[in-house]
Amino acid sequence: MDLTKLTIVQAGQGLRKKEFSAVELCQAYLDNIEAKNKDVFAFLTIIKDLAMQEAKKADDLISSGAKLPALAGIPMAVKDNILVKGVKCTAGSKILEDYMAPYDATVVSKLKKQGVIILGKTNLDEFAMGSSTENSAFGPTRNPHNLSRVPGGSSGGSAAAVAGDMSVFALGSDTGGSIRQPASFCGLVGLKPTYGAVSRYGLMAFASSLDQIGPITKTAEDAKIVFEAISGKDKLDSTSVSMESSPEKMIKPSQIKAGIPREYFIKGIDPEVEKAVKSAIEKYEKAGVKIIEVSLPNTQYALPAYYIINPAEASSNLARYDGIKYGLSKEGKALLDVYLETRGQGFGAEVRRRIMLGTFTLSSGYYEAYYKRAQKVRTKIIQDFKNVFNKVDVLFTPTCPILPFKIGEKIEDPLSMYLVDVYTVSVNLAGLPALSLPIGQVNNLPVGMQIIGQPFEDIKILELAKAYGA
Ligand code: GLN
Repeated sequence: MDLTKLTIVQAGQGLRKKEFSAVELCQAYLDNIEAKNKDVFAFLTIIKDLAMQEAKKADDLISSGAKLPALAGIPMAVKDNILVKGVKCTAGSKILEDYMAPYDATVVSKLKKQGVIILGKTNLDEFAMGSSTENSAFGPTRNPHNLSRVPGGSSGGSAAAVAGDMSVFALGSDTGGSIRQPASFCGLVGLKPTYGAVSRYGLMAFASSLDQIGPITKTAEDAKIVFEAISGKDKLDSTSVSMESSPEKMIKPSQIKAGIPREYFIKGIDPEVEKAVKSAIEKYEKAGVKIIEVSLPNTQYALPAYYIINPAEASSNLARYDGIKYGLSKEGKALLDVYLETRGQGFGAEVRRRIMLGTFTLSSGYYEAYYKRAQKVRTKIIQDFKNVFNKVDVLFTPTCPILPFKIGEKIEDPLSMYLVDVYTVSVNLAGLPALSLPIGQVNNLPVGMQIIGQPFEDIKILELAKAYGA
């Protein structure tokens, strides 16, 4: 049996039936990381010894006969903008190259309580800004399906770790698509939970009104297990809320009405991607889902509004990296020189671009014209979704208009990189749950379809993805 091909459910069963030990399972993944990471570069930090120690503990628990939590002994990976106590956390940036996490993020402590085995920290676009993982200060991650292609981003290291069988599952963060788009590019399930469903405590803040942590997994069932483990109110994040643990309702496709927003099937989408998504929609229709064409009229304004609101919040959140409080510190004659040198040398081009854009749109005289107007657009986008959710339960859209592109293809042209996010950002602006469902391959490259749900109906979209066979 190849232990590195297993899902959470399968690995859990194998551990319980003692078909293999947690130590054997962990070793199989560490061996795969050893063999593949130099080509794929999914991991920035590998925590071998600690992982093996934890695996031994899991084995002790198993032999004690105690009731095992769903994730006990399961090897996993964590995006390197989520804190794991005592382990380096770089956010893919030179400015935090040697930063040690002083505490666990709430999601990490919840998973540790279940007995997961953390294998390491995964690569990302610097501070999660990007769509290809090429913006990492430590080098790009490659797509395990085709090493000349990007794995998507910004959680590209997490997606590549799972797709490359170097981890059973991984955590990512999604501010404008960073879980769903890499999941789509790597043929995986990726869930961006409802805003507030999962605590952001211990996630390095990027754009706080948009950020959420979520799972990247091989199956929808696995994503549900991880989501249930990490969600819920946390007193350390005042925006988190408790998820009503609804009694297990099985969702039958025949009970679901799905909207197809016409604004998502327009010029610019790769015809092969469109074809794949349409045939996935047909498959749902055959299974009994009622398909209805709907309109989200303000869709065209979502991307421009996102690229105002996101840099505005980022510029404010990243003010803390000043060479005094955290990480890198460069010398200077006066305090201002310390700031300028540290930030000038510590941040990469995309991060500097966002700080400048955000500072500009928040500055007096421009605030009304840009930031305030973008917030008004945001309200319109929320209203669009409210309107369609009076008629349908979920929405089906492509996750991304294009297939995984070549490394280097877009990195010199930030605008073309931003356009990749056209189908994912509205969901963050509206705080909705959405997932990417793997629906097959085109030219040997994975394609995903996005399922968008109503607030706090994360489980419903996961069940629907499961019904597809994902
Ligand atoms: N690609 C988008 C951006 O660069 C989304 C990033 C994310 O979700 N972290 O902002």
